[in-house]
Amino acid sequence: MMEAVQSPKEVERELVVMKFGGTSVAGAEELKRAAKRIVAAREEGRSVVAVLSARGSTTDELEAMAREVAGRPDPREMDMLLSTGERISCALCAMAIVELGHRAISLTGSQAGIVTDSSHTKARIIDVRADRIRQALEEDSIVLVAGFQGVSTESNDVTTLGRGGSDTTAVALAAALDADVCEIYTDVEGVFSADPRIVADARKLPVVSYEEMLEMAASGAKVLQLRSVEYARNNGVPIHCRSSFSDGAGTLVIAEQETMERPLVTAVTHSSNEARVTLTGVRDEPGVAGEIFGALAEANVNVDVIIQNEPVSHGGGADLSFTVESGDVTDAVEAIESLDAAEGIETDEKIGKVSIVGAGMRSHPGVAAKVFEVLGESKINIEMISTSPIKISCVIASDRVPDAVKALHNAFDLGSGAVFEENPMSSEGHRPRVTPDPEQ
Ligand code: ADP
Ligand code: ASP
Ligand code: MG
Repeated sequence: MMEAVQSPKEVERELVVMKFGGTSVAGAEELKRAAKRIVAAREEGRSVVAVLSARGSTTDELEAMAREVAGRPDPREMDMLLSTGERISCALCAMAIVELGHRAISLTGSQAGIVTDSSHTKARIIDVRADRIRQALEEDSIVLVAGFQGVSTESNDVTTLGRGGSDTTAVALAAALDADVCEIYTDVEGVFSADPRIVADARKLPVVSYEEMLEMAASGAKVLQLRSVEYARNNGVPIHCRSSFSDGAGTLVIAEQETMERPLVTAVTHSSNEARVTLTGVRDEPGVAGEIFGALAEANVNVDVIIQNEPVSHGGGADLSFTVESGDVTDAVEAIESLDAAEGIETDEKIGKVSIVGAGMRSHPGVAAKVFEVLGESKINIEMISTSPIKISCVIASDRVPDAVKALHNAFDLGSGAVFEENPMSSEGHRPRVTPDPEQ
């Protein structure tokens, strides 16, 4: 008697979500290369959902077009415009895949069921209704989803997820479809100990924990959008970050494990597109900080480093400084002007931030001292400081950011020749690796 043979539909196929960034789909050659990679995964027997970014610098060009016709482009219309970039990539890639002899269908974010809030240009994904994707997979199609966009069910309008948002589309789909892995294909070999475009001997990291990657993304390592890492951690989605242009092993971003190497410092990160807002003569009474930061939250402005000084003279006002992304300065100033909280507002758009991140630095104050010394030796003035258990950030002049990154990377021996079993801080008497504090 013949054994019962399962039809392909009944076999639980592995599912992979593959995301290709802008450089990886820039020209026809790159796009065809991505199509081949997607087809290869399908031919290995996996179901494939691919999320694509806009080609090359398309999103920058679309933003520039908007600014040619409007000083402050209407956010709803901005999203209509920006969302077109990723749709172009997906339709073209679907054509290339069909040409390779496979079934393929491209979907907008809305068609793919990416539901967001209504916060135009920085919307958050609140639900993924992936039925249409599941149906297309059942029909044996490769599904191409336009990254970086969704739809608000409140307004029925197209939204976008903020720069770098295709990473978050990919992770959200991987979570909703219970994919085995979310592969992020980009123009570098993985996550490095510093931006390889600034530090020539930056070391590729084989594994990074969600916690470290969250701090790295939050402090400027744009290889993964911050929200994609939050989403991955909250839903336990393993991220595999790799190059579109080679077959290297890449970097795994996963939950922290006992066996993970924990050097004091894992990476130096930076960002140059920050601005500082300083309020002088802030009313010195309870509730004022709440009013100020409440107004900023209401205006959807993300605040990073905050410093407040007590008034020096009795009855005088306090000084309060905080940093925001450069693109948010106008909104921040408008939000504060609507309050009667401070006498003056100043802004400085020429600031940047350099940070060091490492799960091993928990409860190691010596690391902070070393960072300040290194920046001092390089004659780099520190304007603001903020810390978390696994990160130290310094706000500095934006034109000194590359020097600061190189100096810190060098001082902590993070280069590709570095041996992590040795203690980069040994001359100062610190232990090379630390066991995480169970209370943290
Ligand atoms: P994509 O278009 O593929 O989404 P991005 O430009 O958003 O690519 O992110 C990749 C870039 O991130 C790299 O080209 C690199 O310059 C930059 N980058 C910054 N910090 C890091 C880091 N620590 N490791 C890897 N890349 C980094
Ligand atoms: N195209 C968008 C951007 O350039 C989204 C992305 O690439 O992730 O930011
Ligand atoms: Mg990106």
